[in-house]
Amino acid sequence: MSGLVEELAAAEARADQLRRRVAASTCAEVGCDMQSYGGCNACCDLGDNCGCSVPVNVCTRCGDCDYGDNAEATEVRRLCAEAAA
Ligand SMILES: [Zn+2]
Ligand SMILES: [Zn+2]
Repeated sequence: MSGLVEELAAAEARADQLRRRVAASTCAEVGCDMQSYGGCNACCDLGDNCGCSVPVNVCTRCGDCDYGDNAEATEVRRLCAEAAA
């Protein structure tokens, strides 16, 4: 009895492992599928008080997060610096 249960648990663990590998290899091949996750402080050169926020994206497959390090964030910081100049 318990042998079957153990076999199932092992199979599920193996399937999990394979799913993660498929997800990671898909990302390596075609790039991550980044989706908007929310926003965070832009951390502009001016400091935290400028009130800018940037989008944060997370990959739907491998769960990789850009922590607000993306093209839109760069643009937000650029505009903020421009406005302050
Ligand atoms: Zn990914
Ligand atoms: Zn700013």
